Amino acid sequence: MTVTTANLGFPRIGKQRELKFALESYWAGKSSQQDLLATAKSLRAANWKLQQEKGIKNIPSNDFSLYDHVLDLAVTLGVIPAVYGWKSGKVDLDTYFALARGGKVIIPIELASCSCGRDHGNGASGNGVPALEMTKWFDTNYHYMVPEFSAGQTFTLTDNKALNEFNEAKELGIHTRPVLLGPVSFLKLGKSNDANFDLNKTLEALLPVYTEILVQLHAAGADWVQIDEPVLSLDLDARDHESIRTTYEFLAEKLPELKILLANYFGSYGDNLLTAITLPVAGLHLDLVRAPQDLDAAAKIARPDLVLSLGVIDGRNIWRADLRGISERVKSVIAKRGTDTVQIAPSCSLLHVPIDLASEKKLDADIRQSLAFAVQKLEELTVLGTVLGDKPEAAETALKASDEAIAARKASAKINNKAVQTRVAAITDAQSHRNSPFDARVKLQADHLKLPLYPTTTIGSFPQTAEVRQARSRFTKGELSASDYQNFLEQETETAIRWQEEIGIDVLVHGEFERNDMVQYFGEQLDGYAFTQSGWVQSYGSRYVRPPVIYGDVSRPVAMTVEWAKFAQSKTDKPMKGMLTGPVTMLQWSFVRDDLPRSEVCRQIALALRDEVTDLEAAGISIIQIDEPALREGLPLRKSDWAAYLEWAVTAFRLSAAGVQDETQIHTHMCYSEFNDIMPAIAALDADVISIETSRSKMELLSAFSEQGYPNEIGPGVYDIHSPRIPDVEEMVDLIEKAAQKLKAQQIWVNPDCGLKTRGWAETKPALVNLVEAARQLRAAA
Ligand code: GLN
Ligand code: ZN
Repeated sequence: MTVTTANLGFPRIGKQRELKFALESYWAGKSSQQDLLATAKSLRAANWKLQQEKGIKNIPSNDFSLYDHVLDLAVTLGVIPAVYGWKSGKVDLDTYFALARGGKVIIPIELASCSCGRDHGNGASGNGVPALEMTKWFDTNYHYMVPEFSAGQTFTLTDNKALNEFNEAKELGIHTRPVLLGPVSFLKLGKSNDANFDLNKTLEALLPVYTEILVQLHAAGADWVQIDEPVLSLDLDARDHESIRTTYEFLAEKLPELKILLANYFGSYGDNLLTAITLPVAGLHLDLVRAPQDLDAAAKIARPDLVLSLGVIDGRNIWRADLRGISERVKSVIAKRGTDTVQIAPSCSLLHVPIDLASEKKLDADIRQSLAFAVQKLEELTVLGTVLGDKPEAAETALKASDEAIAARKASAKINNKAVQTRVAAITDAQSHRNSPFDARVKLQADHLKLPLYPTTTIGSFPQTAEVRQARSRFTKGELSASDYQNFLEQETETAIRWQEEIGIDVLVHGEFERNDMVQYFGEQLDGYAFTQSGWVQSYGSRYVRPPVIYGDVSRPVAMTVEWAKFAQSKTDKPMKGMLTGPVTMLQWSFVRDDLPRSEVCRQIALALRDEVTDLEAAGISIIQIDEPALREGLPLRKSDWAAYLEWAVTAFRLSAAGVQDETQIHTHMCYSEFNDIMPAIAALDADVISIETSRSKMELLSAFSEQGYPNEIGPGVYDIHSPRIPDVEEMVDLIEKAAQKLKAQQIWVNPDCGLKTRGWAETKPALVNLVEAARQLRAAA
């Protein structure tokens, strides 16, 4: 007997990103619906077979999606706002994609994202129906489509996708465990424009239809289903608990024979455990990577026949597991409960990790032997299943290999850098404080920089035109020599500088033409970072990212941006802004080593950036921007953990910034608009200037800054760069006047919402000309 292995979900995108290419080709009208559906079908088949081959006992189905699994459930249940024109019956593919991406007019992918390449909402471009809103899936970098519930929302089963895919696997001879997002998570992750929206009432309407999905699955032969309720990792109130109880009691009553595995992941059940564990379900999944403490807590009170699914393999990160350590930790629970009531699984769906390490040909051996992608994680599960069964010796070789890899990683010279460790240990409080408080600095900076009222600037990047991308790709392929590439970049930079001078921008940027991505560009120059060739992870829809891997102590062997900054400053008498990605964002958008606390890794990065900041200052750069677009998304799922996170995140930012003289002006940039609940932390960053996204909210979010008396300077974005629309002068004047009602004129900068990387020059030029003119008019009127 081995212990049952289970998987909660497998990546959908295909080893060669087949799904992306099939989708984009379909959207571009270059292939048919049948082609797309055939690719999807073959990906599902390949995934099921692979999991079977790897020895996984409980293989999921309905974990596949053409775009997003939350959208899939919305469509299955007929939760489709009236504007999409759907009446009844099966939802056609074009309506599905209109919900996902806006439409009927196809919106080029570039328009949907901002400079950082991550999502900030869909920013549909005016024509046709807008897409549903998109937002982050818990604390991952995956984004889901937000279901929109109308007043008196009704539900209807349009087409049972879960059933279709269960049957599809059955035809291949594979008996699967279908996965569905749970009713309560589905409702709580959605939104409603109805002020009187009542979750419990809506749940009443939803449950009979949701049950029908399960009835059909059961009739087709499904014995188990996995129902995901990841909201159980969040702070819930008594009404939420009641909804959970109502739901699972309802399902148990209607389907007494169908076994439900209730799955929570991304965190601890915490104070939701008692509710969850006393539900009439057959199994409960625990994320033991994020919440090892849940094991004892659950084992103590679980009914003897409740199947515990132990999420021991990290579904959120790419490190090889310590199989012996894990087996030691769970052994006693298995001994007590028996192998029938325990399964082992990844902590969550494997959606969030790359597919196969075998695709990586260039990784350093030291690093490679410490990694496990989705395929390797399945193998680890199978080894564990044997180790925990009654013939553990059968897995001895695999277990030894795991031991050796763990030991080698600990000892690796690549990972351990004594100098970095010593420096981090010696960090003093003074290092995260500027010499003088803002009141004093602001005067010195004014004398030094001599900027006008309402100074104008941009956020850093200028259009990465086809030409720029092509030159980079030719250079990477060796088709363009280093010096030709350098010349090309210098040309682009100089042209951008001349043009900024010409239109009268006050603080210039060099344009970031040399950068591929705001994290990758720095990661590639830092020690302790590695990059994969095919480590793609879905960010949303057909957008995948390849997060860098922070495997070792981080340090900066040589200056990273100083040469470019010097070059750019030498071309103008106006101040040239230095441009860096902050420590929290560098951490947040990477796979981070799991053998150090994240806070410590963040401090290492902060020290490397601190050196860059002071080097820029020494090279004559008087304004340095440290971007932190990911600060907010690092917030833990539970409010009670926020303070600790914000404390180390803010300190890391300050550590990176505070090495400069008072005269040097530190900027930061964040491209989102929710600040209300983290305002004290934003103020504590003590950046001299912060630029934020405000144009779409029409400056509303500035209330947070005014009500809480934000002391430093602010550039509230007046140009929505997510859209090709060119704002006119009047509109921008209007926005700034609105801002001036809430802030002092002396505090206000005039700038776009974010970098202009994804825009074309055709829109950028007139928009910035208007922006400068708006600032002029405001000055004249002041
Ligand atoms: N400096 C970066 C840019 O302009 C900032 C991008 C971001 O914060 N998303 O592209
Ligand atoms: Zn931004």
